[in-house]
Amino acid sequence: MHHITCDLCGKEVLPGEDHRFVVKIEVFAAHDPAEITDADLDEDHLEAVSQLLRDVEDNLVEEPDLAPAYKKLRYDLCPDCQKKFLRDPLGKEAAQKFDFSEN
Ligand SMILES: [Zn+2]
Repeated sequence: MHHITCDLCGKEVLPGEDHRFVVKIEVFAAHDPAEITDADLDEDHLEAVSQLLRDVEDNLVEEPDLAPAYKKLRYDLCPDCQKKFLRDPLGKEAAQKFDFSEN
């Protein structure tokens, strides 16, 4: 039997659609369509990207500070965590708490 655990609290999630929620997040660099020109698509742009990739390779870090331009995330959540997630999808509460502890 395939066991699934909640990615937030680690609790085992019961099979069945009523007991398991999937969160899919896509993060990508936004481009204002009005600002896309041929210049964005020419070789200089590609060169810049490949230079960026070379820089990352040169650093040989497992988790580069540089965020990837595109990232797709998928999480399984139990019903409790699904409610928590929908209440605060971007973790703003947690971020504010963090700020307070810093000050
Ligand atoms: Zn959970």
